[in-house]
Amino acid sequence: MENTFTNSEPNKDGYFGEYGGSFIPPDLQVIIDEITVAYLEAIKDETFLNELKALYQYYVGRPTPVFYAKNLSKKYGANIYLKREDLSHTGAHKINHCLGEALLAKRMGKKKIIAETGAGQHGVALATAAALLGLKCDIYMGEVDIKKEHPNVVKMKILGAKVIPVTHGRKTLKEAVDAAFEGYLEDPISQLYAIGSIVGPHPFPMMVRDFQSIVGNEAKSQILELTGKLPDSIIACIGGGSNAMGIFSAFLDDKEVNLFGIEPGGLGIDKDGEHAATLTKGVPGVMHGFKSYMLQDKDGEPQEVYSVASGLDYPSVGPQHSFLKDLKRVNYKVINDNEAIDAFFELSRMEGIIPAIESAHAIAYAMKLSKIEKDSIILINLSGRGDKDIDFIEENYGTRN
Ligand SMILES: *Cc1c(COP(=O)(O)O)cnc(C)c1O
Repeated sequence: MENTFTNSEPNKDGYFGEYGGSFIPPDLQVIIDEITVAYLEAIKDETFLNELKALYQYYVGRPTPVFYAKNLSKKYGANIYLKREDLSHTGAHKINHCLGEALLAKRMGKKKIIAETGAGQHGVALATAAALLGLKCDIYMGEVDIKKEHPNVVKMKILGAKVIPVTHGRKTLKEAVDAAFEGYLEDPISQLYAIGSIVGPHPFPMMVRDFQSIVGNEAKSQILELTGKLPDSIIACIGGGSNAMGIFSAFLDDKEVNLFGIEPGGLGIDKDGEHAATLTKGVPGVMHGFKSYMLQDKDGEPQEVYSVASGLDYPSVGPQHSFLKDLKRVNYKVINDNEAIDAFFELSRMEGIIPAIESAHAIAYAMKLSKIEKDSIILINLSGRGDKDIDFIEENYGTRN
């Protein structure tokens, strides 16, 4: 895994510029500091790195291919390439950091990994890693989401995880995060909290980014092999920002490569509560233990957020993205629900690849950019496959036959 763990940011306190850090109670800080120490030791240990590398290769199926989307390219004008994270075991990029976090938990002598989940994608990936590595797994999930995301709940249970319903408040992701934190504090010695994106207090934004950087490192050599040059643009969707940071991290120093992070515009970004375009519409603040751009209501509480892609509706974002926005190294753009759904069908029909609705946001932006930047090379991180979305699509949008 050459190059993987050499990003210079964050500083030792977990700051990317002014963003990130750790805003948590002192007793929890002691525990989280142990994770930082264990992680920094682990990534200097060849045994740990080799074990992770072998899992990526033989279990996840890495390297995932970079595919030239010829039909789409012909229609829209640019040369469009897809980094196929949808072909990973469990169907998305999340398995990359779940395996890393689970291996670290084992190394630290933990018996159980716990996490919250919204749509269930992180829960399934973590339950998978737990099953493989012989760890117990508790997943906290809002009651509303449990009803909505039935297949993922069943998957987690089949994999041997315990799904703990969260019954207070709005009974969705935010309450699940709070409940998971409470569960963690009950027994921080034998459990490890495995965060699902590059969010939360230090070291999670760094650690999850590092585990995802395999995506960018692979993609860089693959695109060079295919085209003989670096891409002109790279596009990825942004929920918490892990798949985007995973692919961006290998190209941050290549200033000639334009990076685009695509936020969910939902029903439109002019009305609070109808989108989750954190970097576009938010302001810096502190939530869930870290500082970043966030969407706040007038009382400073997290705003209600919405997107057709349930993996993207988070009212904050990974702190490294906030830093990259201020530096203007990454361009953050918005794609709304309807554009994403059109792109979902377009990729399905043109290339025979059904994308996750999250990933369809990146496809939609690539289609727009293609028309302007004709003949350029565009690399899209296709973060996941759309199997999980087909019932929802049929019910709400039909199959367009
Ligand atoms: C969870 C998820 C996302 C959003 O998470 P990031 O941390 O922003 O990558 C995007 N795509 C898919 C397929 C997901 O499952």
